Amino acid sequence: MEEADSGSPFLVPSCDSCEKAAVVEQAYSGRILCGKHLAKSVRKKISKELRQQLQLKRGEHTTILVAVSGGKDSAVLLDSLVDLLGKRPDVTIVAGTVDEGIEGYRPPSIDCATSLSERLGIRHEIVTYPELSFIEMDEVVQRLPMAISKDNNAPRMACSYCGVFRRQGINHLAERVGADVIALGHNLDDMAQTVLMNVSNGDIERTLRLAPHTNTPVDGLAPRIVPLRWVPEQEIHLYALHRSLPIHHEECPNARGALRWRHREIVAGMEADVPGTRHGLVRMADQIKSLRDQVVELGGGDTRPDPPHPCPRCGGMTSGTQCKACDMRDLLGVDD
Ligand code: SF4
Ligand SMILES: [Zn+2]
Ligand SMILES: [Zn+2]
Repeated sequence: MEEADSGSPFLVPSCDSCEKAAVVEQAYSGRILCGKHLAKSVRKKISKELRQQLQLKRGEHTTILVAVSGGKDSAVLLDSLVDLLGKRPDVTIVAGTVDEGIEGYRPPSIDCATSLSERLGIRHEIVTYPELSFIEMDEVVQRLPMAISKDNNAPRMACSYCGVFRRQGINHLAERVGADVIALGHNLDDMAQTVLMNVSNGDIERTLRLAPHTNTPVDGLAPRIVPLRWVPEQEIHLYALHRSLPIHHEECPNARGALRWRHREIVAGMEADVPGTRHGLVRMADQIKSLRDQVVELGGGDTRPDPPHPCPRCGGMTSGTQCKACDMRDLLGVDD
């Protein structure tokens, strides 16, 4: 390892592809990269994954809804998709944001999403919870019965509620813009946390439904793609800074109480001890999905979960007797 700046009192390792000072050490790959070479590697990973996940059909137009929140992940996603597909006449990219109604957090992040969309010349659609007949998250947190309990599970409950409604919000935006595909900005850390959460719950069905849906579209819903899924969160952040993307840095005030936060700490700790853990978790989910595909191919019956049908109460897609959003409405005592 060379010293990039011999005048510096600190040892700054140099990039393994050039002489510049490194900005990241990828313990999982053994590589040490400067800003420029990290950007090159991130772009390459996203472009390769996009080619695998998005199969554009010759002679057919494809509209992609990119779910943007104003945060770094979706900013990198939108910027990359515009860079890779923006000039294609057979592809339309639309950015979409769900406004959950979280004072102090969502408004500035929406400003970032709007300013990025304007900079890239992309149409930006927004839907609010009240427009979808859901109550805003700030009110949900007040209303949750757990909010007054001693163990204070309100934030955990808040995210369960929010996750369900946001998914419906994204489906609503996809319908509004006539999207054929929905692109989500989940990074490697997010994906690994989700796999671990599903495994901890013994939830094979959710693992089978995990995006990307390229080979297994869930009927009735635009398939989701996740082109950033092999890029670690830290590298996405550095890449967003390298590209000078307008991003909102704050975290949602409800995030820390969420079950995902615990899994985030666990996955980060495991990755620090055993580099490559995140890749292993995501690969395992891929292998489970591929085993299912092999069983189907061998004529072992379709082990896919039942295709969703419209919820009798609100029309949202569900595989149960009513959708999760209506379950949440009941829980919160909200009338239709
Ligand atoms: S952290 Fe929870 S409450 Fe905040 S936006 Fe995410 S899911 Fe919603
Ligand atoms: Zn370099
Ligand atoms: Zn419903």
